[in-house]
Amino acid sequence: MTNRLTIILIFAAIALFLGILIVVTSSLLPKKKEKSKKVQDILKIIPNKNCGACGYTNCEKYAEAIAENPEVALKDKCPFMMSDKEKLSELEKILGVKINKNK
Ligand code: SF4
Repeated sequence: MTNRLTIILIFAAIALFLGILIVVTSSLLPKKKEKSKKVQDILKIIPNKNCGACGYTNCEKYAEAIAENPEVALKDKCPFMMSDKEKLSELEKILGVKINKNK
């Protein structure tokens, strides 16, 4: 009976060790940057002209910037979004801010 318990404890310890090893190893591996839901939602409505008029190298960089900090959308604006009332309204809903297109 004691032998069985010892074997079970040894296997449990090995399983615990392997589990910890997997967690530590996976946390050290470089992670593929996944787009957040907010960025994905913004990219669905953004013009995708990649013109740089907003001050960012492309639409994706702009989407990431405004998703991370919605205040950015109040000063760095996409002129194409500002001229489209429907898209501007959708963007405001996603970001949770009111964007004044005239400022
Ligand atoms: S101004 Fe608009 S269309 Fe041009 S890169 Fe910026 S987000 Fe894209």
